[in-house]
Amino acid sequence: MDYLPQILFLLVLAVTAFIMYKRISRIKSTIQLGRPLDRSDNPGERFKVMTLVAFGQKKMFKRIVPAILHLFLYVGFVLINIEVLEIILDGLLGTHRLFAEPVGYVYGLLINFFEFLAFAVIVACVIFLIRRNLLPIRRFKARELTSWPKLDANLILVIEIVLMLAILTMNATDQILQTRASDLAAAGMHAYPVTGALFFSSWLVPLFDGMNTQSLVVIERAAWWFHIVGIFAFAIYITYSKHLHIFLAFPNTYYSNLNPKGEMRNMDEVTNEVKMMLGMPVEGADQASPAEIARFGAKDINDLTWKNIMDSYSCTECGRCTAECPANLTGKKLSPRKIMMDTRDRAEEVGKSIASGGKGLEDGKFLLDDYIQREELMACTTCNACVEACPVNIDPLSIILQMRRYITMEESKAPASWNSMYSNIETSMAPWKFPPTDRFKWADDLKKESSTEK
Ligand code: SF4
Ligand code: SF4
Repeated sequence: MDYLPQILFLLVLAVTAFIMYKRISRIKSTIQLGRPLDRSDNPGERFKVMTLVAFGQKKMFKRIVPAILHLFLYVGFVLINIEVLEIILDGLLGTHRLFAEPVGYVYGLLINFFEFLAFAVIVACVIFLIRRNLLPIRRFKARELTSWPKLDANLILVIEIVLMLAILTMNATDQILQTRASDLAAAGMHAYPVTGALFFSSWLVPLFDGMNTQSLVVIERAAWWFHIVGIFAFAIYITYSKHLHIFLAFPNTYYSNLNPKGEMRNMDEVTNEVKMMLGMPVEGADQASPAEIARFGAKDINDLTWKNIMDSYSCTECGRCTAECPANLTGKKLSPRKIMMDTRDRAEEVGKSIASGGKGLEDGKFLLDDYIQREELMACTTCNACVEACPVNIDPLSIILQMRRYITMEESKAPASWNSMYSNIETSMAPWKFPPTDRFKWADDLKKESSTEK
C-alpha cells in the first residue's frame, strides 16, 4: 500500500508520455506533408539567429513593457521546470524534496527564486488578461481572434495562474509542516525537510496556520498532485494550442530564411525551362527522369514547403504582423496572422484525417478558397512588414506568394491589370505598353524645347 502513490504517479507519467509521443509524431508527419526545402546551409549563422531570436527574445524588445512581462513568463516556464524535475523524481522514488539535503542551504535560495518567478508569472498573466480583454488594443480585437483562438489565449493565462498558485499553496503548507515534526512522527509520518523561510508562499501561511496537521498534509499533497498533474495536462494541451511556439520557436528560428528580405526565389522548373530554350546548361538535366512538377504555386498545404507548415505551428497569434500590415491597416481583408492560422487549421485537419484513415488531402477541400480567400491574397503589397515584425521569424508572405503563383500560373486568374502588366514585361521588358525603342522618346521633346528656347 505504501507504494500506491508511486504506482499511480508512474501510471500518470506513462500516459502523459504516450499521449505526448503520439501528438508530437502527428505534428511531425503533418509538417512533412510539405514540399522539401533545403535549410541545412550555414549552421553557425542559423545557431546565432536561434540564440538571439528564440532564446534571447531579441525581437520582443521592440516594445519594452510586454517584452519584460513575456520574459517573466518565458524564464518562469523554463526555470520552474527544474523544480518539476525534482517533483517527478519525488513522485517516482516516493521521496519528498529530494534535492533539499544534497544541495543544502542553496536549496532554500533556489525555492525562493522559483517562488519569485511564480509570483512574477501570476502578475504578468493578470496584466496580459486585462490587456487582452479590457483594453482597446486593435490586434486583440480582430475577426480571426474570436471563439477558440480567444478562449485558447485566455485559458493558457488562467491555467498558468492556477498552476503557480498551486506551487505557492504547496510551499505554504509545507513550511508549516516543517515545524510540526513531532505531530508527524506521532502519526507515523516522515518529517518534512527544512527549507528555511520561503518569502512569497509565507503570505499564504496565515490561511492555513490554524489547521491541524492531518488537514495540512492533505492540502499539501493535494496541491502537489494538482500541480504536477496540471503540468502534464498543460504539456498535452500545448500541442493543440498556439502555445506550441514555446517549443517550436527554437527549430523555427534555426531554419529561418537567411536571404535578404524581399528576395524572391525563382521557380527552378521555370528557370530550367528558359535555360533549355536558350541552350544554356541546366542543373540535373542528365537525370533519367526529372521530377514531375505537381503544380505551380500552392493550392493546398502539400504544395507549400515543410517550413511554411512549421511556421504555422509556431505562430503565437500575437498579431504583431497584422498590426504592421499596410493592407490590413487600410481596411483590406488581409491579415497575415489569419494566413498563418488558416494554414495551421488546414494542416491539422489533413493530419487528423490521415491519422484516422480518412481522406486526408483528398477531402475535396483546399487551403485556397476554403480557408484563405483570393481577396486576402490579392491585397498583399509584398512589403515584408509582417516578416520583419514577427518575433519568431515566421514568413506569411512566402505562403501568400506561393498561393498567388497558383492563381496566376495554374488558373490564369490574376486580376486583368496584372495580366496586362505580365504581358508587357514579356513583350516590352517593362510594365508599360511601350517597346524598348520608344523608351527615350520623351527626351526628344525636351531636345526640341531646348533648341527653340535658344
Ligand atoms: S507583405 Fe503583405 S501581408 Fe505582409 S505586411 Fe506587407 S502587405 Fe501585409
Ligand atoms: S506570424 Fe508572427 S507576428 Fe504574426 S501572429 Fe504569428 S507569431 Fe505573431
